[in-house]
Amino acid sequence: MHTDTLRDDIKALMPRAKGDLAEMVSFRSIHDPAQSPPAECDRMVDWLIEAFADVGLRDVQAHVTDDGSRAVTGFAEGPLDAPTVLLYFHHDVQPPLGDDAWDSPVWTLTERGGRWYGRGAADCKGNIAMHLTALRALGKDLPVNIKIIGEGSEEQGTGGLEAFVPKHADLLAADTILVCDAGNFAVGVPSLTTSLRGLANVVVTVRSLSSPMHSGMFGGAAPDALAALIAMLATLRDDAGNTTVRGLDATGVWPGVDYPPEQFRVDGNVLAGVDLLGGGRVSDMVWARPAATVLGIDCPPVVGSSAAIQPEARARINLRVPPGMDAVSAQDALVDHLTAVAPWHVHVEIEREANGQPFTGTNSGPGYEAMLDSMRAAYGRDVVMQGQGGSIPLCTVFQETFPDAEIMLIGVEEPLCLIHAPNESVDPTEIENMAYVEASFLRRYAERFAAPR
Ligand SMILES: [Zn+2]
Repeated sequence: MHTDTLRDDIKALMPRAKGDLAEMVSFRSIHDPAQSPPAECDRMVDWLIEAFADVGLRDVQAHVTDDGSRAVTGFAEGPLDAPTVLLYFHHDVQPPLGDDAWDSPVWTLTERGGRWYGRGAADCKGNIAMHLTALRALGKDLPVNIKIIGEGSEEQGTGGLEAFVPKHADLLAADTILVCDAGNFAVGVPSLTTSLRGLANVVVTVRSLSSPMHSGMFGGAAPDALAALIAMLATLRDDAGNTTVRGLDATGVWPGVDYPPEQFRVDGNVLAGVDLLGGGRVSDMVWARPAATVLGIDCPPVVGSSAAIQPEARARINLRVPPGMDAVSAQDALVDHLTAVAPWHVHVEIEREANGQPFTGTNSGPGYEAMLDSMRAAYGRDVVMQGQGGSIPLCTVFQETFPDAEIMLIGVEEPLCLIHAPNESVDPTEIENMAYVEASFLRRYAERFAAPR
């Protein structure tokens, strides 16, 4: 057994981790040329290739995937007969959603109140900093074989890596896969994310007139496409806020940790006096039941709108699909529902966009046991099993491509990070503690894997 200087070593590496993260956050790696120049993603990839080579990986390289994004792979050899661990991250980020909404510059890592702010500080560049810190702490003394896979278009949902994985199974095959695009239930509460909701998106277009018509001369009798769309969208929930898509079960119950409503109100930035939705517990609503969210509506904005009845209106709807439900059937149900509730015989066209199946992670095995031990040791308390309302379709691809691999979701993204929102941040103690979890996991896993089972 090693004398455990790991924790101290990692503490000493934290200034370096902050430097890494500051450099990564400075790259505007949104994988969408309409929002950020592709050169920003290229700079991020170049940085990763250097950084992972610097911590001892070899053959670190970028592969162009089907959607034009680049996936980064690399490898480091451990002892003979050691197991192989694949470390996942993504290196693209969400758009800032309005620079004005940020209290500090979006692309400059800024410390405030003990947290580090900037787009991608947590999701997912904080997890990259965690990987680099863990590997740096272990140095040449790697207890297992390490592989990395860095996705370049996770936030776009364009599926480049999902197509890449089955085609490059040899390059990525592992005994355990750590999908590090998740995080703890709360700061200081070690957590495994054991289930993910899937998703099914649709875009619905409603048409009723061949041109906009004056609301004074025609309003009252002319079929209003926007009014029809609003009526259709309103049928997706009941008065209590429960999802009411015909044919979808919305009564699931979450078996793991309870999500206290008070904490959810804080985590969810819910305004005082405004109700939480649904008839179940919060954990049921966000982890075990479907949820339909209108992501956007195309109609005239208030500024510049005129006294006209709209001939056409469009909405994108995002349906979250809990474990146990098939994402394609759920998408079908949503399409059928919207078609059925359209009023006044308006013309309805529904486009099916991305869908991804829900996922259930590993809950036994040497990797699982080693992870629980490492988390308990790092945080000094028991591990919480949580779901994640969001989806990572890639997890399902990993499961299908590597059916024997243990797949676990961990990371530095706890609720206060406000990932995807303005003012995203990361708690540096989570990077430090989770890097320690990761490094000590790799050692414990090697030992458990070698022990007779
Ligand atoms: Zn992410």
